[in-house]
Amino acid sequence: MLLMRRELRPEVPDDRLLDALLTTEVAFAADAENLTSLEGQSALVGAIGLTARSGAQCYLDVPNVDLPGVTAPLTSPLLVDGLLDLGLDLIPGRSFEPRLPAHEVDLAVVLGDSRWRGLARRIVRLSGDAWRGRIAPQGERWTPRGSPFGALASSGLAAGEAYKAAMRRLGDWAPGREVFDALFADALVAEVALAPPDTPAPTRDLGHFDFVSGGAIIHAALYALSRIPRATAHARVIEPESNELSNVNRYWFLRSSRLEEKKATHLASLDLGDLRITAVPRLYCDRNLNEIGPLAHRVLVGVDHIPSRWAVQQARPSWLGIGATSDHFVQVTFHSAGLCCACCLHPDGMEAPRKIPTVAFVSHWAGLWLASIFARVASGLEVPRVHQQTTMWTLRPDSRSAIQQSQGVSTSTCELRCPL
Ligand SMILES: [Zn+2]
Repeated sequence: MLLMRRELRPEVPDDRLLDALLTTEVAFAADAENLTSLEGQSALVGAIGLTARSGAQCYLDVPNVDLPGVTAPLTSPLLVDGLLDLGLDLIPGRSFEPRLPAHEVDLAVVLGDSRWRGLARRIVRLSGDAWRGRIAPQGERWTPRGSPFGALASSGLAAGEAYKAAMRRLGDWAPGREVFDALFADALVAEVALAPPDTPAPTRDLGHFDFVSGGAIIHAALYALSRIPRATAHARVIEPESNELSNVNRYWFLRSSRLEEKKATHLASLDLGDLRITAVPRLYCDRNLNEIGPLAHRVLVGVDHIPSRWAVQQARPSWLGIGATSDHFVQVTFHSAGLCCACCLHPDGMEAPRKIPTVAFVSHWAGLWLASIFARVASGLEVPRVHQQTTMWTLRPDSRSAIQQSQGVSTSTCELRCPL
């Protein structure tokens, strides 16, 4: 609701915001052919998870197929059983419907070239390959690619469309109708390529690394990495706080039944196959460095607190990746030898802490970009310097300027005297 208010007049009552979220209806359809690959399953489960966390009523027209591989936060090895169980454990009082309604829904999300047999104001189809995800009126059959990244990009695109459908119910409360309508218009065709087209699938051995934060962006990054077929890794999660109800709106692995637990120990308790997590329930700061011990050579950071990003950079890991969000914008940077440091690309550290407006699909994009760049580095692939900084405007991924990539520039006052 905080995020919705950013685009509406201040007098809009909370009830109207809640009503817009909870009365948005989204149907998901998939057939067994499109669900034979892990990628097809990832795209569908991803789109449902992200959409449900914003409160939409979800209807499922999908077969109850086997789910091989890592399933968390689903706890059943069967698709529909797992989804229905998850639906009861997210937004209090909500559940998924295992059939299509007789009436028209706001949005149908159809996997690949599966059949759609319901009524919907709008249909988007999910397609993709190893690193590229797409929504469009036409869809392509999902096939195995050895990479979940394109699939999870298509999930993020679909969830953004569901969120915009909810926001469009509030157009009468917009301060300016023309701008509002442009912000929240449908993206008829949108495609996101997380890596160049000839990039091979990621390695399954991701090595040792650290997560600083156990929040939304790290959930999204870990979710993506854990969907790499047979991924193996050992990662620490360095995070002192506990899960709260307000986190359920966007934390990929969080179920309402796991509130109050330490975020780090919750993540360490998940069954992620051969991707092992060690919990370090401490704040990353000078006074805890003895207990935390040295950082891994590669570190992924998702903290809101900007001076914490600097503190990790000061420890000079050989590769540092940072994911951040601001309203509907995502910023992801990486820092390694010869590049400018995190302090130079994340300079606004003196801002007072505040309640931060968030939504699932935006956090997802930050974690997905971060994980996709890390997975390429862990696979020994070169990530071009001109991709050091990625920014994405997530509301209109169909606009030509939605994604910008560039090499960062050192500031003249840099205390680390970067380039690193
Ligand atoms: Zn610097």
